[in-house]
Amino acid sequence: MNAPAVTPGYQFASDNTAGVCPEAWAALERANVGSVASYGDDPWTARASALVREMFECDAEVFFVFNGTASNSLALASLCQSYHAILCHELAHVETDECGAPEFFSNGTKLLLLPGADGKLVPQGIDDAVLRRRDIHYPKPRVVSITQATELSTAYAVDEVEAVAEACRRHGLRLHMDGARFANAVAALGVPPKRITWEAGVDVLCLGGTKNGLGIGEAVVFFRREQAEEFAYRCKQSGQLASKMRAITAGWTGLLDGGIWLENARRANDRAAQLEAGLRHVPGVELLGRRQANAVFARLPTDLTAGLRDRGWRFYDFIGSGGCRFMCSWATTEADVHAILDDALKLQDEQRFR
Ligand SMILES: *Cc1c(COP(=O)(O)O)cnc(C)c1O
Repeated sequence: MNAPAVTPGYQFASDNTAGVCPEAWAALERANVGSVASYGDDPWTARASALVREMFECDAEVFFVFNGTASNSLALASLCQSYHAILCHELAHVETDECGAPEFFSNGTKLLLLPGADGKLVPQGIDDAVLRRRDIHYPKPRVVSITQATELSTAYAVDEVEAVAEACRRHGLRLHMDGARFANAVAALGVPPKRITWEAGVDVLCLGGTKNGLGIGEAVVFFRREQAEEFAYRCKQSGQLASKMRAITAGWTGLLDGGIWLENARRANDRAAQLEAGLRHVPGVELLGRRQANAVFARLPTDLTAGLRDRGWRFYDFIGSGGCRFMCSWATTEADVHAILDDALKLQDEQRFR
């Protein structure tokens, strides 16, 4: 059978439009031999867990699930009771893009939305939210969730994570990090993973694999082992325990071994920087936000948006706080960036003479 037709070249809609990176693919192929134990009792899963612990330089408890919605929802559910509240940014993926799954899996825990520049929470916002109400009629704040890199393609610096964690300690809150693009944050900040996680006070990290180059897979990393108690049951009950686990975890070994995760993220961030630089020279385009990671936000004239889409380019215009989002991935090439910039320049040129 022939492969179905796909649009050639890269699309900027999301980093999950890219395929599987070669290293993860090769690892899957290597793992596709013989029979091994199921449900995670296999050497690939053991190796993947060990590599995650190596990456964070600590003895974390690691679980592998299918996607980010599940990893966030189950991790958050494990940190609170149904009468608690989870504080998160108003643009947080857990609020805007998970169809209520965090509330569903936690049996109704309420998300309380906080504002914050650049997609980030600040200690003052957390203080205000906790101190606003302390009575029995209000859901009791129990968890703070931050996204690293943020939905607006910025990254919390080490001291910013520490400050959030300090606010959590003041109020007896636990700290969850949505790291669907954690690798891109590490690449942007140039710090060891432990500096922006457990050393800074993060309890649980949802570590993204899919957008970083896997076909399927996110990891839930508990830095405090006692918080992981019975988490395996949550995974099983919610349909997130893969029976043929090596089909997920072998890919992880390919991504983590030799630091491919960081190379992939650096490449994605570099392409975004290149795209951002190029868009500065496209007449009528206004760059938005303070990009550090792999997405560029920009306001485009309406006919430029339409023109690019007519030429087959795909990107979103409903994410974040306005404008269009151009997301780069491990698979974005310099040629892809040049191609979209060339089209944008041509369209704006034609526009001048109309
Ligand atoms: C993509 C993404 C996720 C995971 O989404 P799934 O589609 O459920 O895998 C989680 N958080 C953020 C910030 C994301 O961008």
